[in-house]
Amino acid sequence: MPLAPLPDEDVPFVLVARRWCTPVVAELTLDPVGDQVGFVAGQYVLAQDAGRTVPVRSYSVANAPRPDGRLTLLVTAVPDGPTSTWLARGSRVGDRLLVSGPYGTFVADPGHHGPTLYLAGGSGLAPVRALLQAAVARLEAGDADAAERHTVLFSGRTPADVIDEAQLAELAGSHPWLDYLRTLTRVAPGSAPPPLGRVPEVLPGLLPDLGPHAVYIAGSPGFVDACTRTAQRLGVHAGRLHTEEFYAEPVPWHGAGVAVTPAIEVEEP
Ligand SMILES: Cc1cc2nc3c(=O)[nH]c(=O)nc-3n(C[C@H](O)[C@H](O)[C@H](O)COP(=O)(O)OP(=O)(O)OC[C@H]3O[C@@H](n4cnc5c(N)ncnc54)[C@H](O)[C@@H]3O)c2cc1C
Repeated sequence: MPLAPLPDEDVPFVLVARRWCTPVVAELTLDPVGDQVGFVAGQYVLAQDAGRTVPVRSYSVANAPRPDGRLTLLVTAVPDGPTSTWLARGSRVGDRLLVSGPYGTFVADPGHHGPTLYLAGGSGLAPVRALLQAAVARLEAGDADAAERHTVLFSGRTPADVIDEAQLAELAGSHPWLDYLRTLTRVAPGSAPPPLGRVPEVLPGLLPDLGPHAVYIAGSPGFVDACTRTAQRLGVHAGRLHTEEFYAEPVPWHGAGVAVTPAIEVEEP
């Protein structure tokens, strides 16, 4: 694993594409205007609009590093959340953003030789997608460890909430070391193919012994907490458990806009 680069501040990027993955999750593609932001797969950056009208927020990069410096983000549009709403719905192709980073330690462990499990809720798929792309790249470069079994379990409420199911199923189909599963938490029993239910209900039947696994969990705090407790019950080694909580940060805000702190219910997949 390359060493994580030192963070850069306020590097200009331009929004070149938006794609809706679900009714509330948008994929944004950002290209560097000049300098790139170096990062290791799984890390996150800070982003805001170039005019600083919305607060700085953290977003995991949803791709492995590329020579052209392109970043993709998966942004959940939080009702009344200023930055996520601007990114997902308000921004326009051609808009400039300021990106700082990289940050975070949710990265592949070069010392781990064994299977890996990824648990992702909603836009928590972002760093998992980056880690998978990096594993594919390592395998293509001849790293045999990358061919250990990788299992992705994505949790969404309904079929409409599942991000990139077809693409991930196709990736798994073309890489025998990769298993992709999605579970749905808000559908009637029998109304969709299994697995159905929350990760704590589903995981013990899929992987009852996590002793040999590295486990990566990303999503909302409630999702990460529930999955962490389940992984611990199934025997994950403490040093091989990696979590990324998409908590709301108490970032001091002195910008042009008005900071909004709405009281909304945070829905867990
Ligand atoms: C390390 C890290 C990585 C992150 N990566 C991502 C990412 O890849 N994609 C992403 O969409 N978000 C990510 N987040 C969350 C992101 O930083 C913001 O917190 C989120 O976009 C809300 O910002 P806001 O300004 O729109 O709303 P805020 O004003 O910050 O929050 C408004 C309200 O929404 C709640 N809230 C925050 N996030 C969610 C959510 N996902 N669903 C429902 N309610 C929520 C908050 O608890 C708060 O009550 C990450 C957070 C961290 C700490």
